[in-house]
Amino acid sequence: MKWFDSHCHLKSFSDNGTLDEILVHAKSNFVIRLTAVGTSLEDWNLYQNLSQKYSGFVYYSVGLHPCYVDEKFEIQIEKIEPFIGDEFHPVALGEIGLDYFHLPKDKSSAKALVGFQKVAFSKQLDLAIKYDLPIIVHSRNSFSDCIEILESKGVNWNRVLFHCFSEGIEEIRILNDRGGHASFTGILTYKKNHSLREAAMKQGLENLILETDSPYLTPEPKRGKSNKPGYLRHLGNFICEKYGIKPEVLAHQTFYNTNKFYDIN
Ligand SMILES: [Zn+2]
Ligand SMILES: [Zn+2]
Repeated sequence: MKWFDSHCHLKSFSDNGTLDEILVHAKSNFVIRLTAVGTSLEDWNLYQNLSQKYSGFVYYSVGLHPCYVDEKFEIQIEKIEPFIGDEFHPVALGEIGLDYFHLPKDKSSAKALVGFQKVAFSKQLDLAIKYDLPIIVHSRNSFSDCIEILESKGVNWNRVLFHCFSEGIEEIRILNDRGGHASFTGILTYKKNHSLREAAMKQGLENLILETDSPYLTPEPKRGKSNKPGYLRHLGNFICEKYGIKPEVLAHQTFYNTNKFYDIN
């Protein structure tokens, strides 16, 4: 059996000295590929180095996460292009998008920040389009604005993945109708998230992509602990039990879907 963790963050493990252990744990839990997703200039170099060191196991993306956007966002975005041209290049642009959940309380600063996030998103989409790269979208309380910007840019929707999908059936229809896809985290296993499970069902197994978003969003029954890529199988097991799928079938299909999205052989 082999799993692909399509989206995780490894910097905190590197910082606290547990990265080697985490990667061994991933492999012993059949996670044989993972994508370390960039959030800011603080992690892009680390992830590029890891993709070189663990070639064929660790893949990475570069992107300025909306929560790391401030008035000086251009300085960071200017540093993305050299990664794309490098021998050890990212498999996607991301995570990029809009986050209206973590905005400051003060209305005028919140408005200004949303303005910066929109321009940062848009400029990074230009890069993704220029190099025909897959796009990992982070959308929090901002679904329709994300769709609007993606639409206005004329992106290739087949290359768009809304990660940690947390919307319902209508939103997944809007996304799938255009050719875009969603990936799912451990929040799918949380009891109250019925409409999210409906959305995952609607998109279907043939398009399903799984992620841990480690170190966040730990799936049941490990909820409460820090998440790690090796816990992907808990999300997998939950889906298997819920929908009556064999783990081998789910692992095989999601592994295939993730490779296809990132254009990995
Ligand atoms: Zn995110
Ligand atoms: Zn993430």
